[in-house]
Amino acid sequence: MTMERRNFLKLLGAGAAATASVGLAGYANAATSAGGKHKVVVIGGGYGGTIAARYIRMMDASIEVTLIERNDHYVSCPFSNLYLGGILPDLKSLTIKYDKLAKNHGIKVVQAEVTGIDAENHSVTTSKGVFQYDRLVVSPGVEFRTDEIKGYDQEVMPHAWKAGPQTVLLRKQLEAMKPGGTVVLSIPLAPFRCPPGPYERTSMIAMYLKQHKPGSKIIVLDANPDIVSKKGLFLKGWKKHYEGIIDYRPAKKVTEVDNKNMSVLIEGIDEIKGDVINIIPPQKAGHIAHVAGLVGPDGKWCPVNPTTFESTLHKDIHVIGDSSIAGAMPKSGYSANSEAKVCAANIVALMNGRETTEMSGVNTCYSFLSEKEAVSVTGVYQVNKEKNVIEAVPGSVGVSPDLSELEAVYAQSWVKNILNEMSS
Ligand SMILES: Cc1cc2nc3c(=O)[nH]c(=O)nc-3n(C[C@H](O)[C@H](O)[C@H](O)COP(=O)(O)OP(=O)(O)OC[C@H]3O[C@@H](n4cnc5c(N)ncnc54)[C@H](O)[C@@H]3O)c2cc1C
Repeated sequence: MTMERRNFLKLLGAGAAATASVGLAGYANAATSAGGKHKVVVIGGGYGGTIAARYIRMMDASIEVTLIERNDHYVSCPFSNLYLGGILPDLKSLTIKYDKLAKNHGIKVVQAEVTGIDAENHSVTTSKGVFQYDRLVVSPGVEFRTDEIKGYDQEVMPHAWKAGPQTVLLRKQLEAMKPGGTVVLSIPLAPFRCPPGPYERTSMIAMYLKQHKPGSKIIVLDANPDIVSKKGLFLKGWKKHYEGIIDYRPAKKVTEVDNKNMSVLIEGIDEIKGDVINIIPPQKAGHIAHVAGLVGPDGKWCPVNPTTFESTLHKDIHVIGDSSIAGAMPKSGYSANSEAKVCAANIVALMNGRETTEMSGVNTCYSFLSEKEAVSVTGVYQVNKEKNVIEAVPGSVGVSPDLSELEAVYAQSWVKNILNEMSS
């Protein structure tokens, strides 16, 4: 029986959502037999938080789960580049609500801003009062290190790296740009949310310029020494579709902006002008993780136990998604989903006095290169027990063979399924 359960949890960790939900009912019964009403509070209703909340309830309905999110809806970053490129007419298909999570799973959804975490007293302070927890899951996404870009103003040079009004602003700026204009896109040093995301955005903006703004170009200023993900496939796609439109410049770190002149400075020296400037600032864990003392000595990200995602700095607090240091797992929605399932399974195990299960994570990141073609990178992850870090399973990381329409179909299916899982 123990072995069966362990294997089942491994499956969950592998992010096999469909398979997992088939077996959950039986498991829930086993778990509730331990009795007692435990409380879990989850901060953040995005890719990590919704799944952690849902799976804890699915695995043990006796646990009271409260999901605290500042907004009454969530807009997915995955596929928001397709809106910028004009493939999606609006952000509606990328927007989810929380009512079904509450109705179908009995999750208490609270729309509030979390302002503090008291790790000693096991409480969370919000704009709508204080919530007690036995265990806390923190999945607040990223915050921007805007202090590293002198003069930065997101209303003039949008980041559009949290989907919503910023994405709409950037699209409006692109629409308003004169033909023959220049778009500047700045990419921060890794690690950042969604390693292939800036290069997909480059492709989508280039596609928009090709179709709607003849004679325009996009200058990409990448602080990294090279394209950080799927390099060969992006270069192939850019050559095939956007020759003369994309001007990619590696090792160009933007350190200052001039909002009046619409220009950026590289390392405080070289000035580059643009009609539309999209600055993706360097990133760190969500603000609340800093307030709560969950951030490690690097001052940016949260160190966690790679099996349970429990903070190494504060007991009974688990950090998942972009904010956590999850070893080799990239900061992606797919990873956050996978981490949330492992974390949920282990919280349920810990609350019921059972053995924790091994980490088994999966990630796939799709990127669109044109209206119909996409590419992908995939990896499977596990804990290296000697080093106590999450590593890629040898030989498991690979990219799709070429640009293809089939990858685009897979991508469409992925986003539909994962958003459905987060909101039903
Ligand atoms: C342009 C772009 C494209 C991307 N494409 C892909 C892709 O194709 N595939 C992929 O897998 N990933 C992709 N990603 C990455 C993906 O969006 C993130 O990795 C994922 O959202 C991380 O999940 P999370 O739970 O850590 O954070 P989020 O999903 O950002 O959720 C955090 C939530 O916490 C809430 N919150 C934060 N602080 C508080 C507080 N104090 N009080 C209350 N609520 C709070 C926020 O409002 C937010 O709803 C993309 C990202 C971008 C920017």
